[in-house]
Amino acid sequence: MDRLAGKVALISGGARGQGAAEGRLFVREGAAVVLGDVLDDEGKKVEAEIRANGGRATYVHLDVTRESDWQAAVATAVKAYGKLDILVNNAGVLLRAKIENTSEADWDRIMAINVKGVFLGTKHAIPAMRQAGGGSIVNISSTAGLVGSPGGTAAYTATKGAVRLFTKSTAIQHARDKIRCNSVHPGPIATDMIKDVLENAAAWEQRMRRLPMGRPGTVDEVAYGVLYLASDEASYVTGSELVIDGGTTAE
Ligand code: NAD
Repeated sequence: MDRLAGKVALISGGARGQGAAEGRLFVREGAAVVLGDVLDDEGKKVEAEIRANGGRATYVHLDVTRESDWQAAVATAVKAYGKLDILVNNAGVLLRAKIENTSEADWDRIMAINVKGVFLGTKHAIPAMRQAGGGSIVNISSTAGLVGSPGGTAAYTATKGAVRLFTKSTAIQHARDKIRCNSVHPGPIATDMIKDVLENAAAWEQRMRRLPMGRPGTVDEVAYGVLYLASDEASYVTGSELVIDGGTTAE
């Protein structure tokens, strides 16, 4: 119940999917959360649902590629709830295109959201966390940040690999500030992001062959891992990788 008692968290991409699940779980564990996303209607619904259940949540419009949006989101957390302890860099997009069919604009867009977004969030969370006496940053990478993918997701793997190592550098640079930073590496999780594969029987059958558990993960199965890293239970854990993939990368 109280694994995040007294903590304040900012979650990017919090309007749906894994980010919304993390928001709901963090609140159940005692945190106040600021949810940022570009999907304002969905984000406001999550905010209203959490508040209706007695939790503390605020939705803000946050395009993770815009530095001024990050400044405003961090300021909202501090103004509404007094400080910032936790940042979950969760927002992300997927691109399915073979390398030779990937346009420069598509490459720049996925890099801006998945990599620059993590950099900007980290940059603006750090001063607030230092002010709070420390903090925890959890960056959502992917199994695609650990191993290559046979499908047309080379640009996506490049972004998630970058997140993995940016995490470790952040951890080293800010260990003495008592700011921890870890990456999470989910396998396929049943969200809108992979709806195209989940809804295509032939594509899913092919994907399942590479999944030891034979099923996708759930948003809560990732959220509990993020909760651990965000909480003080992980006080000696920094620069690490938490793989939540049903054994996919064990093979
Ligand atoms: P999702 O598509 O449901 O959620 C992604 C969220 O990010 C959405 O709410 C979207 O609006 C938001 N977003 C996109 N661009 C944004 C921007 N510029 N600014 C702010 N928010 C933006 O998918 P999900 O599965 O919940 O994805 C969450 C994270 O998990 C992503 O980083 C994704 O890469 C990663 N991931 C997903 C899977 C999977 O199979 N679903 C596997 C491994 C890792």
